[in-house]
Amino acid sequence: MARPPGPPGRPQKKEKIKQDITDRLDRPEGHTLGARDYIRYGHRGNEEKIMCKICGVVIASLIPDDSFKEVQQRGNQTVIRERLVMAQTPQYVALTMEMDDGSAHETPACLNCANTANLDQLEDAYMADLEVMLDLEDNRRGGEAPWEKLDRKPVSRGSIR
Ligand SMILES: [Zn+2]
Repeated sequence: MARPPGPPGRPQKKEKIKQDITDRLDRPEGHTLGARDYIRYGHRGNEEKIMCKICGVVIASLIPDDSFKEVQQRGNQTVIRERLVMAQTPQYVALTMEMDDGSAHETPACLNCANTANLDQLEDAYMADLEVMLDLEDNRRGGEAPWEKLDRKPVSRGSIR
């Protein structure tokens, strides 16, 4: 099924943002990020691990949820079924950057980077988030990103929760 047309200017804005990402993250001197590609996916496309994109430390990963453990006996085989849940480490925080158009952008990070990231790192981190949105929209059938609203820059670290 065809997607309904988005607001006017959306495809052009998306192309411009794609170029901005490349200009920023593939610049000759290199980007500042420890994990530009900060989400690891499993074979079914599910998220398995999330890193702090700024320094690269793991801030969330799949762990077995003990309350869903099932043990079955099949003949002489014991089958243990576990459910995995995404668990955040104590370092995980949501950092809300303040943007130059007065809006805000929330992104996962580690506590240390959320308290120390400079503007260069914030700009790279925002571009890495846009790159994930592009990937979700184009390859993983995620939701459509509102590109017409995403052409902006961080101006400060903002708040942490
Ligand atoms: Zn970090």
